Amino acid sequence: MLIIGTCVHFPTIQCSKVAFFLCPRFNLVRNLFDEGFLSYNEEIRIFKLYYIFYIYFVLELFTLFKTFGMYERGPLHMLGREISKELVLGAGEQLKQLLSPHNEEDRNLIKKGLILFRQGSIYNVNTTTHTVSAKVQDVTSVQVELDLDDIVMSTCTCPYEGICRHRIATFLYVYASVDRVGTFVDLWKEEKSIDDVLRNVRKASTFLKPDKDYEDSSLASWIAFFNREYDEWLENVPSQNQLFQSLFLHYYSNLKKKAPKSPEMKQFFIVQASVTVFLKILQLINETKPTDYMLQHIIFPYLDQLIDNVQNAIAEMKRYALPFALDPLLVDSVERFRELLFTSKHYQYERTSLYQLLWIELLRRDKFISIEREWLEEELEQMEKTNESYAVEIEIALMHMDFLQSRDEDIFHSLESVSATALPLTFKWVEDIMKKKNWKRLSGWVSYMLNNATEYINSSIPFEEKRYTVRYMMKLIQQYASATKEDQLYEKACRKMLPLTYAEYHDLLLDKQQYKTWVELQTLLGFTIDEMDSYLLKEIEKSEPGILVPLYVKSVQDQIALKTRENYKMAVRYLKRIKAQYKKLKREEVWENYINQLAIEHKRLRAFKEELKKGKLIHD
Ligand SMILES: [Zn+2]
Repeated sequence: MLIIGTCVHFPTIQCSKVAFFLCPRFNLVRNLFDEGFLSYNEEIRIFKLYYIFYIYFVLELFTLFKTFGMYERGPLHMLGREISKELVLGAGEQLKQLLSPHNEEDRNLIKKGLILFRQGSIYNVNTTTHTVSAKVQDVTSVQVELDLDDIVMSTCTCPYEGICRHRIATFLYVYASVDRVGTFVDLWKEEKSIDDVLRNVRKASTFLKPDKDYEDSSLASWIAFFNREYDEWLENVPSQNQLFQSLFLHYYSNLKKKAPKSPEMKQFFIVQASVTVFLKILQLINETKPTDYMLQHIIFPYLDQLIDNVQNAIAEMKRYALPFALDPLLVDSVERFRELLFTSKHYQYERTSLYQLLWIELLRRDKFISIEREWLEEELEQMEKTNESYAVEIEIALMHMDFLQSRDEDIFHSLESVSATALPLTFKWVEDIMKKKNWKRLSGWVSYMLNNATEYINSSIPFEEKRYTVRYMMKLIQQYASATKEDQLYEKACRKMLPLTYAEYHDLLLDKQQYKTWVELQTLLGFTIDEMDSYLLKEIEKSEPGILVPLYVKSVQDQIALKTRENYKMAVRYLKRIKAQYKKLKREEVWENYINQLAIEHKRLRAFKEELKKGKLIHD
């Protein structure tokens, strides 16, 4: 039970609390239920949460074990020893002969193979000297046997005849162990010989290097520059283990240093560089398959920082009137920002929320929206046909277009078919409406959040994430409630989302000096009196004597049950507080009654009786 308190205040879970946690004090909750404090559903929810916490705790432990220096080994280590680089490059050459970049079907095939690869759909990989067998998770799982000597002889269990996307995906997986997959795709598009180019890549890049790093007025030229710098960085990266750190610290810093001089262009360049680094991180994740620990603790902070940097650069940009010179760059950004939607399966929330941010701040024009909407709708239709799995991102992006055109009703309608876990994705919209102080428009959104909170809380999302979401949502609701003077709304939200809103409700009740409800809340969450701030307890006793008595009584019972002399001493300490309370209330007869009952009830506990006498609570 204590674990709730521990989680709310200190996100790091402490092992010693587990024992308490496994023992939900059902009767206490039961009482509150009987008194109408809780509805039946809320009660059920609280018990569900206990078990979610438990599972969460086990997962946390598991992650800790994984922390000890374990990096998942990428394809490089797995394949490098057995299959030669020449063989892989040779297989690439064969594929180039078989598939043409001028044929739309072939282009789609490469694209779909690439998506499967980037989603990390390839697993159970086994190799001999010239073959690779692997499973590929598509709509259903298929088995691929790739023959690198003679690629046409490769097989797949899917019905497609000839080279299918699964064979391509498996090939790209193998290719990733000798070179960047992006290089293969680029070379394939350019119809250049892979061998030659790879051999001469250094020379060529020194030859081709333009006088100027990039053209100020062309996004394509910026992106080409970002890519050149990336290739150079990749060649000099100090250690595979520090890939992400180095990308951020070396590659990203270097790009920022080379930004244009004019202030408004400079900030837009930083936006583009940040988006590029974000995309590069996603690609590297697909290629190196980092562990969950890496994803959460090493990589996530960089993505978070990048989003912050985009936000800051945009704020800086807005201090100037956007120059006309920026227009062509903005048009091209439509396509660039779209890549955030489907570059990787990871970080769906971060990807979509950066996309939302960029559109809200930079691309909010009907002309751009209609271009994007058309593309998204077409893509969604394609995806429905092929069952590809970026449909959620595309749907969110479409809703975002609705949002930009104030079509909230359409969004609510679309949201019905999306899982409740998507709730946080609506925050960008709520924030934007709030910033514009459009309270009328906001009221629909506040209702939406409240109506969907329960389903969100009951979903199987990790506790910490839920807590984070709920805390954020409560902040939004608080701002709305205070702006619209809907006093009851915030409290209603507090109660609705208990126990996740424990901290907010706690503060609110103390603020309003509703101590009786506050005590109920403590009891509900199983807090004992020694866990509470003693200064606060004194304040409450002063203003409402007697109100804490049930908490003391509970603690006395707990202490007696532990049956050591130390516990009896603690029990006596609490009993003295109870006595003082009754005295203040001038109800000494109730006290006498209680203490005599207690003494009779525990008359066999000799040491306890001694302590009672020592404390002058009973006489012979
Ligand atoms: Zn296949």
